[in-house]
Amino acid sequence: MTQEPLNFDLFEDTMPSSSPKKPPKKTGKAARQEQAAKPARAWAAAKISAMLDRLEKAYPEAHLELDFTNALELLIATIMAAQCTDKLVNEVTAKLFKKYRKPEDYARAPAAKLEQDIRPVTFYQNKARLIQKCCQQLVEKHGGEVPADLDALVSLSGVGRKTANVVLAHVFGQQTVAVDTHVKRLSTERLYFSSQSDPDKIEMDVRNVLPPARYTRGTVLLQWHGRYTCKARRPLCNKCVIVDLCPFEKKTI
Ligand code: SF4
Repeated sequence: MTQEPLNFDLFEDTMPSSSPKKPPKKTGKAARQEQAAKPARAWAAAKISAMLDRLEKAYPEAHLELDFTNALELLIATIMAAQCTDKLVNEVTAKLFKKYRKPEDYARAPAAKLEQDIRPVTFYQNKARLIQKCCQQLVEKHGGEVPADLDALVSLSGVGRKTANVVLAHVFGQQTVAVDTHVKRLSTERLYFSSQSDPDKIEMDVRNVLPPARYTRGTVLLQWHGRYTCKARRPLCNKCVIVDLCPFEKKTI
């Protein structure tokens, strides 16, 4: 499957309307924001279970696409993945993780050196600064270990709830919901799990919809469905396995 770039939410159609009398038709981000304002739907537990079962059947190979072998590597990779493709992050970390093995390695590296080592990723200077600060905090406050605790994780530089939830789910085996661009779009604009725009509030709404035992797997399935079928610019509704369950009014069929 070809991975779609993660920053497509930034696209906006700025073409003016051809008719000056009619208000310009909202497209792109503006139209999606209007969709996002729709009230959340009530989802019956049986319907959600059926939806997850079908997505599981459609994407049996669905998995977190960042490469890592331990908690520190996943923490660093997830910080780097903000507004960047997992594929590019994996290319960079393949070399990076051979050079930097402990938080101390990042904490003590010259800032300019770390910047160069992650240079292909978007916003590499800012991310290098956050990674270094985060690793200094791991050394000073957590004995060089990545904590298995949400509050401790989100107190680290560069770590928000999404990153913390990814680490807690995929390293420490906790059931969590990580709201990335795909989960956000599906939850607010297509399936109407949430009418919120703040990712932390969306997470709470998704938690209220998905069965707790399926938080992590449900999140990964939503990510894959968003990446490969329910795409941002034009969902492939004619290929969608949950088309009859989906409340989206503008299906592309
Ligand atoms: S029917 Fe279309 S909009 Fe609804 S989930 Fe499937 S691809 Fe997305």
